[in-house]
Amino acid sequence: MDLDAVRAEYRYGRSILWPVAAPRVPRDPLGTAHLVRLEPTPGSPGLELATAAPPTTVEENCLNVLIGPRMLLGVTRVGRIGAPCACDEHTPGCRGAVLAARAAAVNAGEHPPQGWEPAGTASEVPVADGSGWKVVRDAGPTMRNVDVFVDHGGWAFIVGVTTSPERSEVAVRALGGVLTSMRWLPEAA
Ligand SMILES: [Zn+2]
Repeated sequence: MDLDAVRAEYRYGRSILWPVAAPRVPRDPLGTAHLVRLEPTPGSPGLELATAAPPTTVEENCLNVLIGPRMLLGVTRVGRIGAPCACDEHTPGCRGAVLAARAAAVNAGEHPPQGWEPAGTASEVPVADGSGWKVVRDAGPTMRNVDVFVDHGGWAFIVGVTTSPERSEVAVRALGGVLTSMRWLPEAA
């Protein structure tokens, strides 16, 4: 499958940031050769993760890494827990505020974006310095998203992977490795 076909497939469901320039796809999604950083800001912590590839897009509060064929890793700093949230449409669960990890995962499963369906219930998973809360959602038969919600220093983060269901086992293993490698970066001065 060529990259154009992959892009077309990923467009199905919700829109996902995709780099304009076609990146090189790493052969091994479980690779850890690249340290990827979501930089801290004045007031909020950042994090560093070992991944199979360098970032394909980086913004202040999110980055994406193509970690394998049809596997996109996403890292998002959602906001300070309890602060007003930036949902497109607030859900009964969020009630307009950034949620802590467990509540956020439950809410994400109960109120998925349009076109998405939950696959199972939220569950606790290990991360480098504690635990996070995982939720799995599918968009049709071709796209699966696995998001892990983690909190640090009163801030909410999501580390997740979007892939196809048939690749989700290796994608979840890759995500587990990334989460194990995670190191928090103290807020900037
Ligand atoms: Zn909201």
